[in-house]
Amino acid sequence: MFVDSHAHVDGEEYEADREEVLERAREAGVRAILNVGTGDPESGSLERAVEVAEKYRGVYAAVGVHPHDARLFDDGAERRLSRLLEQSARIIALGEIGLDYHYDNSPRDVQREVFRRQLRMARAADLPVIIHSREADEETVKILREDWAGSSKGGVMHCFGGSGKMMSEAVELGLMISFAGNVTFKKAEELRAVARQVPLERLFIETDCPYLTPVPFRGRRNEPARVVDVARCLAELHGLTTDEMGVLTANNFARFFDLELSGGITT
Ligand SMILES: [Zn+2]
Ligand SMILES: [Zn+2]
Repeated sequence: MFVDSHAHVDGEEYEADREEVLERAREAGVRAILNVGTGDPESGSLERAVEVAEKYRGVYAAVGVHPHDARLFDDGAERRLSRLLEQSARIIALGEIGLDYHYDNSPRDVQREVFRRQLRMARAADLPVIIHSREADEETVKILREDWAGSSKGGVMHCFGGSGKMMSEAVELGLMISFAGNVTFKKAEELRAVARQVPLERLFIETDCPYLTPVPFRGRRNEPARVVDVARCLAELHGLTTDEMGVLTANNFARFFDLELSGGITT
């Protein structure tokens, strides 16, 4: 059994064959998918992510304004997001939120402010957070220390790509560490060395599909069934079988979000 802790299956990329994609995930042993809504908060994309979670059993939702779109976050967006958080029991986290200094699609000071505002919203809504941090390790940790430490709900460092230092600081902050297909890439030796050091009870696996397709399928559209390839890579690093890594990370997910995984995905 596996859980894909971070996917974007509500996207246009799956418009033509979403049910087949979910069916393949089910056949691969994927019991749950956390579908993360991103995009312009006024475009309806967050609502669309929740609709997919409400339609399929085993699919849950997280919604938040991605650092790429931080410049679009205003009082109206905050009200819309708050309303959505109240409306659906399928929403189990606020995210993905954080800092992306690689693309810099929004000004950095705006990204920081919007990250802090959404951490406050998560606290008010009593939800855990999904954190996206790219080339912004130090400031992500600084903001989390100031605005999130002591939260009872915790958070997930998704698509972890940082240093060993960043990983230890995230673990110290009580966060889960989630690895995606980039950990399987040929040149990712350093990241694999970091992945080997993560305490087993803090590990999550994800696809971040449609992006980051793991080896040996790199270059094609990614999908939740491929989370098995991420599990295989992490299993080798920790001296476990792929199935053992699947069960371990699925149990971590169920414990963290306080969910039952028995039902699985139905389309
Ligand atoms: Zn992300
Ligand atoms: Zn994502």
